[in-house]
Amino acid sequence: MLAILENLEYVKYSWKRVFQKEVNMKLNEGVPFERWNALFDVAGMHIQKRNAERMESMSEVMNVEKIFGEQVFTLGKMKERLPKKVFAEVKEIMEHGGEMSLETADVVAKAMKDWAVENGATHYTHWFQPLTGITAEKHDAFITNPDKMGKMMMEFSGKELIKGEPDASSFPSGGLRATFEARGYTAWDCTSPAFLKKDATGVILCIPTAFCSYKGEALDKKTPLLRSMEALSEQAIRIVRLFGNTEATKVTASVGPEQEYFLVDREKYLKRKDLIYTGRTLFGAPAAKGQEMEDHYFGTIKERVGAYMKDLNEELWKLGISAKTQHNEVAPAQHELAPIYNTANIAVDHNQLVMETMKKVATRHGLACLLHEKPFAGVNGSGKHNNWSIGTDNGVNLLDPGKTPNENVQFLLVLACIMKAVDTHADLLRQSASDVGNDHRLGANEAPPAIISMFLGEQLEDVVKQLVETGEAKNCLEGGKLETGVKTLPNLSKDATDRNRTSPFAFTGNKFEFRMVGSADSIASPNTTLNAIVAEAFCEAADVLEQAEDFDMAVHDLIKKYMTEHQRIIFNGNGYSEEWVEEAERRGLPNIKSMVEATETLTTEKAVKLFEKFGIFTKAELESREEVLYETYSKSINIEALAMINISGKQLIPAVAGYTKTLAEAVVSCKEAGVEPTAQKELLEEISGLLAEMKAARENLMKIHEEAASIEDPKKQAFFYKDEVKTAMEALRTPADKLETIVDKSVWPLPSYGDLIFEV
Ligand code: ADP
Ligand code: MG
Repeated sequence: MLAILENLEYVKYSWKRVFQKEVNMKLNEGVPFERWNALFDVAGMHIQKRNAERMESMSEVMNVEKIFGEQVFTLGKMKERLPKKVFAEVKEIMEHGGEMSLETADVVAKAMKDWAVENGATHYTHWFQPLTGITAEKHDAFITNPDKMGKMMMEFSGKELIKGEPDASSFPSGGLRATFEARGYTAWDCTSPAFLKKDATGVILCIPTAFCSYKGEALDKKTPLLRSMEALSEQAIRIVRLFGNTEATKVTASVGPEQEYFLVDREKYLKRKDLIYTGRTLFGAPAAKGQEMEDHYFGTIKERVGAYMKDLNEELWKLGISAKTQHNEVAPAQHELAPIYNTANIAVDHNQLVMETMKKVATRHGLACLLHEKPFAGVNGSGKHNNWSIGTDNGVNLLDPGKTPNENVQFLLVLACIMKAVDTHADLLRQSASDVGNDHRLGANEAPPAIISMFLGEQLEDVVKQLVETGEAKNCLEGGKLETGVKTLPNLSKDATDRNRTSPFAFTGNKFEFRMVGSADSIASPNTTLNAIVAEAFCEAADVLEQAEDFDMAVHDLIKKYMTEHQRIIFNGNGYSEEWVEEAERRGLPNIKSMVEATETLTTEKAVKLFEKFGIFTKAELESREEVLYETYSKSINIEALAMINISGKQLIPAVAGYTKTLAEAVVSCKEAGVEPTAQKELLEEISGLLAEMKAARENLMKIHEEAASIEDPKKQAFFYKDEVKTAMEALRTPADKLETIVDKSVWPLPSYGDLIFEV
C-alpha cells in the first residue's frame, strides 16, 4: 500500500510538473483521493495529445513517406478509385498498349477529376513538350454551363482526357504545318501519370500528352520518344527470345538524368539583362578566384543553398519525383541533383518538372537558378549525365554483365550491338546532345569532347580484346580487394573497373552514362536516338541469328564480327587531350564541333533509313526538325547579339564615358595643384582607347547582325550566325571585360563574376 502511495506521490509530483495547471485545479477543487484515477485519465489524454502534436510537428519537419507522390494520380490511387474491371483494362493498356474505349476513358476521367478537385484543382491542362524544348500548357476550368437554377457542375469527360486540340500555329513546326493549318492535337500518354501543379495560379491537373499535327506528324519531343521506346522493345524482345527468355513481354529503357545548375542571388541577377534574356553572361571578367582550389566540389552546402535544396526536394517528392542525390559541383555556385532512374518517358517528364521547379523554388528563396550550359566564361559549365539502361519486364537488365562477363553471351551480344550502334551513328548521338548553349561546353576542357567514343573499363575492354584477337574470351579481370592500410578501416571490395570522367559515353557497371547532354536541354532527343540506334543493331543481329542453324556458333561469330568492325569506337584514355583529337581523326571518327554542323546529320540517307525503318521519324519530320534547329540557333544568337548591343550601348559605354570624365577632371585638378598626374593620364588613355575599341566593335556587331537577319535560307543563316556574328560578339566582349578590371567598381553597372558566384 505504502509503495502504491509513494508511487502516487511520485506520479502526482511528476504530473504536477508537467500538467501543473490541471493538477492544481483538480486539487483545489478538492478532488478526493479515489479520483486520482480520473486524474490519471486526464493526464493520459494530455500525454496522448502531446505525442500527437509532437508527431505533427515532426511531420512538419518532413514526413517523406507521407508526402511522396501526394500530387500524383498514381497507379495506387487509380486502383482505389476505379472499378476493378476498368482498372485492369487501364493497366493492360499502360503496360502493353491498345485503344481505350470512350466509356472506360469517361470512368477514368471522372475518378481523376474527383481526386483533383478534392485536392483543390480548378483547371486541367494537356501538358506537352513542343520543339521549344520546354513544356506547354493551356488551362481549362472543369466548370460547365450553369443549369436553369444557376447551379454549375465540375465536369471532365473521357474525350477531354484523351484528346486536346490546342491551336498549334504558334509552335515551331519547321514547315510541317502552315500557319493557316492551325490544328494540332494532344493525345494522353497514359504511361506517364497525371499530376497536380500547385502555385499562385491555383491547382492545375496536368495530363502528360504527345502533340501531333492534323496529319499525324509529330510536333513535339514526346511522340518520337514513345515511338523509339516501342521500337527498342520489339527488337530487344527478339534478342532475349534467342536466349530462351520466353517470359519477358517487353523491354523498357530506363533513364536517370543528373541535373547540374547554378544558383545566384536574384537581386544581382535582375541587374544583368544578359542573364535575364539569354541565361548566360555575355560580358564579365573572371573573378580573382575561380574553381582552381577544387574546394567547391562536394563542399559543405551553404545554409541558404541548403534551405533551397530542402524546399526543392519537398516539392519534387510531392510530385512523385524521387530526388535522391544532391551536392555542390565543381564551379563556385554550381550544384547537382539526381533522381532515381525511371522509365524513359517518365524520366523525360520528370526532368522537365525538375528544371521548372528548380527555377520556381529559387525565386521563392530570393535566388535565380541558371540552367544554361555555360552561364560564366572561365568556370565549368553545366551538363546532364544521361544514365541509360534497358531491362525486361521479368527483371533482367540487359546491361548487367554479371561477375564473369566473358561467359555472359547475351550481355556480350548486347554490348557488341551497342558498339555497332554508337560507331555507326556517332554523328546522330552527337546531334542529339547539341543545343545552342552546349556549343560552349562540348570540346572545351571540362566536358566530354565533341567526339563520340565509348569507355568500357579495363575488364570489358580486356574481354573485347580477347574476343577480337582470338575469337574467345577465356577469362576476365577480377575486382579483388582494396586495402586501405588502416587496421580500423574495412578492406573494401573493388570494382573490376575504374571510372573515366572524360568519356562521353561510359559504361558504369550496369548502364551507359551519356555525358554530352546539355543542362538546359530536354533529354527526349538523346534517349530517342539511343533507343533508335540500338533497336536497329538488335534488329540486324536478330535477322541473322533467327535464321542460324547453329545458334551458338552464329552468335559467337556475330559478336566477334561486330566487335572487330567497331572497336575503333572504344577509347579508355583521356578524352580531353589533344592526342585524342588526332587519334580519333586517324580512326575516322567524326569530330562535329558545333550544333549547326551537327544538325545536318539528321537528314543523311543513313539517318532517314534508320528512323523511317522503325517508324520513329518520317523524312518530312526529320527535315522539319532540321529547319527548326537552324531557326532556333539563329534566333538564340540573334537575341544574344541584340542583348550585347543594348547592354554595351545603354550601360557600359555611358558608364565608362562618365568615368573618363571623372579621370579627366582629376588630371586637370592635379595639374592645377601643381602635381604631375602621370598615373591618371595613363589610365585615362588606356580606358579611352578601350572605350573606342568597344564602340567600334559594337558598331561592327550591329552591321553584321543586320546582315545576318537578311539571310533567308535557314541553314546559311545559322552558319552565318555561328561564323560571323559570334566572332563579332567576341570582339565586343574583349575590350569590355578589360575595362571591367580597371574601371572603378562603383561605376561598373553590372554585378561582377565575383559578386554572382561567390556571394550567394
Ligand atoms: P554514378 O555511379 O554515376 O554516380 P549513381 O548511382 O549516382 O551513379 O546514379 C547516377 C544516376 O544513374 C542516378 O539517376 C541513378 O538512378 C541512375 N541509375 C542507376 N542505375 C541505373 C540503371 N540501371 N539505369 C539507368 N539509370 C540508372
Ligand atoms: Mg554519374
